[in-house]
Amino acid sequence: MTITYLYHSGFAIETEEAYFVIDYWRDTDDGIVANMIAQDEKTVYFLSSHIHHDHFNPEIIFFGQHIKYILSADIRRKNKVLRTDDRIAWVHRGEQYEDKRVKIYALGSTDVGVSFCIETEGKRIFHAGDFNNWQRTTASEYDNMQMANYFTSELTKMEDIVSNCDVAVFPLDPRMGDLTAAGAVQFCKAVHPKQLIPMHCWEMYAEANTFGREIEQVGSRFIPINKSGDAIVL
Ligand SMILES: [Zn+2]
Repeated sequence: MTITYLYHSGFAIETEEAYFVIDYWRDTDDGIVANMIAQDEKTVYFLSSHIHHDHFNPEIIFFGQHIKYILSADIRRKNKVLRTDDRIAWVHRGEQYEDKRVKIYALGSTDVGVSFCIETEGKRIFHAGDFNNWQRTTASEYDNMQMANYFTSELTKMEDIVSNCDVAVFPLDPRMGDLTAAGAVQFCKAVHPKQLIPMHCWEMYAEANTFGREIEQVGSRFIPINKSGDAIVL
């Protein structure tokens, strides 16, 4: 199984039987997603955690009749034309998509939409979407405390499904300064992902990667990303 970093929060997973493309915004320069779409041996799934432009690119709907889409229901509310598209499985928090090769759990978030846990070929991969303990230097202490509580409560609900997952793809957004890894560290302490890959970095890879030490200190292996196209073999 190979996980390739596309851009921002976008990742593509290749398994024996399928391709999964999560939170697609842009393809790699050499068109790895375009190649996945063009082949006809493996099933292609597109997942989008919510409607924000950095997680859902509406172009994906035109990528082909053969594609299966698992999209957060918040996207449906804003896109009337998609409502009758039978290629799409809509998911709310707490719901699941399942077929013969994959089980996809739609889990909580601290923003709109969902996070995902993908279970396939004996592995579990968590993709956070915009689920994070978003501590903002510009927000009031009260608002940051509310966010921290919200994060803890959503984290508790997903623990059973996500615990000891093989990989977690989780926001390390350097716009949060010293608190960039606050959510990721709490997440690792609670569910112990074997490995963590940063996302939501806005090309600030070096800044995001400096928080890898904090992740490793709480027992998860940190896998840095440095550029679009970086790949990790599981
Ligand atoms: Zn986002």
